[in-house]
Amino acid sequence: MNAALVGNLTHASYILAAGLFIFSLRWLSRPQTARRGVLAGVVGMGLAIVGTLLHPGISNYLWILVAASLGTMIGIPLSRVPLTAVPQRTALSHAFGGLAAGLVGTAKYMLWAGDGSITRFQSGVIAIEVLLGFLTFTGSLMAAGKLQEAIPTRPITFRGQNYFNFTLLGVAALCGIGLVVDPSLWPLFAVLCVLALVFGVMLILPIGGADMPTVISILNSYAGLAAVAMGFVMDNMLLVTAGALDGSSGFILSLIMCRAMNRSFTNVLFGAFGQVAVAQAAGEQKAVKSATPQDVCDMLENAARVVIVPGYGMAVAQAQHRVREVYDQLTKRGIDVKFAIHPVAGRMPGHMNVLLAEADIPYEALVEMDDINRDLPQTDVVLVVGANDVVNPAARHDQSSPIYGMPIIDADKAKLCVAIKRSMNPGFAGVDNELYSADNTLMLFGDAKAMLGEVAKALTGGGLGH
Ligand code: NAP
Repeated sequence: MNAALVGNLTHASYILAAGLFIFSLRWLSRPQTARRGVLAGVVGMGLAIVGTLLHPGISNYLWILVAASLGTMIGIPLSRVPLTAVPQRTALSHAFGGLAAGLVGTAKYMLWAGDGSITRFQSGVIAIEVLLGFLTFTGSLMAAGKLQEAIPTRPITFRGQNYFNFTLLGVAALCGIGLVVDPSLWPLFAVLCVLALVFGVMLILPIGGADMPTVISILNSYAGLAAVAMGFVMDNMLLVTAGALDGSSGFILSLIMCRAMNRSFTNVLFGAFGQVAVAQAAGEQKAVKSATPQDVCDMLENAARVVIVPGYGMAVAQAQHRVREVYDQLTKRGIDVKFAIHPVAGRMPGHMNVLLAEADIPYEALVEMDDINRDLPQTDVVLVVGANDVVNPAARHDQSSPIYGMPIIDADKAKLCVAIKRSMNPGFAGVDNELYSADNTLMLFGDAKAMLGEVAKALTGGGLGH
């Protein structure tokens, strides 16, 4: 094929791929269009790979084939992990992305510094690429290890930790500046690589608990920025575009999560943070009222408006299909049923959306926190399924609570609230929930799947009496 035609084809595939990546992100942000978003991303990546393989500079396809086969062999089992392991799987993907960026930067440095053709600009960009790539690699491996509980999950802190970390970063930055001044100073390059690897580990050591998923999206952002630097090194504008999209979306997601969990972003970035909240000293236990599945069935049947608040317990119990049965029974009776989706319900962003989609709950029934909160005072029954922290009213008024300031779903403002959980144990934040002892709350104690099964059975037996 003639060179000009190949060049045009590569450019056309890159432009199409960049457009598809942008649409993919747009579509991924709504459950209704998420599948289309995934497809657009896959097609965009396919086009990007084909366009790159057409590049006339590529002569040896064998190594590319070997690398692609290896990647596929690792990727296929990784794609089959259970939903609960998705955060650590995502961390592993970032680790591979970071490693790729770091290795490409190292190879380019050795190649260009070896033949003396390296420019100061190239040397500086490679330093950024290698720093971000290698710190993302070890940081993400640490994060995956903590989430998988392969290494201790608690935050590890020591005196002067921030000074130590900033010194590491400062020395690495000085090495980078040194490489811009004189790109042939390879020992500086070697020190930079080692410091980046160590810094990644140090960055994650003091993090634990609720901050882990936020840190994963920050690492996503670093991996994206490493790809931008790699794009400049390789003179590949598609890599710059894709990296920038990846980096900025990771950054935006981190901001959204920080807001939803009431964490300061600078704390997550720079502080010794993420201490798992210590369970409150067992204070005076307030009396709670419990109900039976038949009671709950009666209350639901007599409601005109019902809101279901799913939480981590629904995921643990895998109760989404029972939720669907109850939803079907109620909507059949003409009752208006909505789902209240808190941005950090469960253990990863979008956790509840994915589970409810798996049970074929219509997307239109899923309502974001701010919108559903407006409707809750006019709601007859709120059914809380294994949610705890995200409905804890203490977040609004108790300044001593670790969740103070976290936006919550106002389940307590509904006319009646039914909470399904197994015991009075606290949720992730380790604090008691005053919702359970409120006058308008009834507890249905038991496993969410079993209890909802009973409620659904009672509703089925109860006929269409509304
Ligand atoms: P939660 O506060 O962790 O509470 C979950 C509740 O589910 C527990 O109180 C537990 O009570 C109950 N439960 C567990 N297994 C159950 C079962 N089989 N059947 C019925 N109930 C069961 O959950 P959440 O309200 O969804 O809040 C999420 C928390 O995780 C927030 O604090 C958030 O900040 C944090 N977080 C979220 C993310 C994210 O990205 N979504 C990431 C990290 C941390 P029993 O033991 O009594 O049953």
